[in-house]
Amino acid sequence: MDQYGIIGHPLGHSLSPVLHNWGYAQHGLEARYDAWDTPHEALPAFIARVRAEGIQGVSVTIPHKQAVMPLLDRVSTKARAVGAVNTLLWDRGLLKGTNTDVTGCLIPLQELGRTLRTGLVLGAGGAARAAVAALNELGLDWVGVSNRNRDKADKLALEFGVEAVDWQERYKNPPDVLVNSTPLGMSGSLENENPWPMRSLPSETVVFDLVYNPLKTKLLLLAEQSGCTTISGLEMFLHQGLKQFKLWTGLDLDADAAREVLLARLNQG
Ligand code: NAP
Repeated sequence: MDQYGIIGHPLGHSLSPVLHNWGYAQHGLEARYDAWDTPHEALPAFIARVRAEGIQGVSVTIPHKQAVMPLLDRVSTKARAVGAVNTLLWDRGLLKGTNTDVTGCLIPLQELGRTLRTGLVLGAGGAARAAVAALNELGLDWVGVSNRNRDKADKLALEFGVEAVDWQERYKNPPDVLVNSTPLGMSGSLENENPWPMRSLPSETVVFDLVYNPLKTKLLLLAEQSGCTTISGLEMFLHQGLKQFKLWTGLDLDADAAREVLLARLNQG
């Protein structure tokens, strides 16, 4: 049986096993996908286990996306560009790291089929890097990044060739596409928070919230009320996962059916 799984810490209720195990069943594959909670200090031993046991594929999440890079034989150009690995796979006997988070951000925006000229990413952490890379790949005329800690926005802006926008001024020039990559709005203590400080958004704005729990964050509710097009963070999760599945098995999964599976699990709470 082929073995796959996700490493991170804390892992919480990861949706990745739901998606991948459903995918194996769809294709009748003899494979299983587990969740391996792996604290920082256990990462080198875990990578040794991947090599010793020939684990076929691994999803990598916080806090290992950068730390795993020096432990691998190869890191793809895409992962190097984003500065993070979220997927491990075997490539001609070599353990390789790549990144499917950019694809996860890119596909939902491409699927809109709209011409987008400007984009603003709120936040400057790991998810922001994928979002900025995706907006750059879309070829927008202008991309901005705004973060509570201005230094981090400046660094990210310099690295990706985009513009840093002061956090206090993030609302001043609403972009064609607004991406929230902060945890503001996430279930728990931040659920009632909204990273957009105004009471409305221009109706032509596309609003993509990378948070997916809850599915309708305060930001997405405001965007809906303003008549905007909205994309939930589940779309990023779905498409990064479908890309991983394809890299590991060479097979496609039906995105609509996969989304239903994930929604059913989220609705179970
Ligand atoms: P991260 O690396 O810790 O970065 C978090 C960013 O949010 C930082 O820039 C931080 O700003 C900012 N931030 C945190 N708390 C804030 C607050 N109270 N007010 C304003 N800004 C705040 O985390 P990440 O990996 O980028 O993940 C961020 C979010 O993206 C997560 O909450 C998760 O929901 C979502 N995400 C979704 C997917 C998906 O598949 N849909 C994948 C990854 C992440 P400072 O620099 O000032 O601290």
